[in-house]
Amino acid sequence: MIRSVCVFCGSRPGGRPAYAQMAEALGRSLGDAGLKVIYGGGHVGLMGAVADAAMLAGGEVVGMIPERLLEREVGHRAISHLIVTGDMFDRKARMIDRADAFLILPGGLGTLDELLEVVTLKQLGYHAKPIVLIDRDGYWDLWARLVDHVIDEGFAGPDAADLFEIAGDIEAALGLLGVAAPAAPLAHAARAP
Ligand code: AMP
Repeated sequence: MIRSVCVFCGSRPGGRPAYAQMAEALGRSLGDAGLKVIYGGGHVGLMGAVADAAMLAGGEVVGMIPERLLEREVGHRAISHLIVTGDMFDRKARMIDRADAFLILPGGLGTLDELLEVVTLKQLGYHAKPIVLIDRDGYWDLWARLVDHVIDEGFAGPDAADLFEIAGDIEAALGLLGVAAPAAPLAHAARAP
């Protein structure tokens, strides 16, 4: 059963408002669903948007950030727990260890590093946790094509494409994790004055 979800995503908001809207919607859905959110601990970009929205929805949010990035990624002080790690490797290892599943939103090179880390660890049998990329306007198409290319050229077996899934939206992503998407509009209407 999935109780905690690690979210990897951009430390920047991306070039279009749709990305931040998506990050907020994901944070809200995870909070509403009662899933613990584990993430990189920053208060910037999509990372901050996910954390803020999950907290606002009453969720539990655990951030992991290396001391060196506390300033650069603005360590988020208004989450349930902010854990300061020794370095980047320690941070990534602890996030991966604590999560029951991984959700990946659009992001930059750091997000790609984190995605590759969980995918390759799964390939090597270090874990068997679900990895779901959440797409927006085909953002992950090139990733899927790159993996297919790696397989076509004989550098990975065909099952490499089964290490992760790509969901078209948040509801589909939660469905792939076996988590029913909460009835967000009703829940939020109930909170209105
Ligand atoms: P980005 O997608 O580049 O905005 O970065 C998203 C997150 O990935 C940020 O919290 C970065 O600190 C983190 N990150 C960047 N490079 C690495 C790396 N080599 N290993 C682990 N995390 C990283």
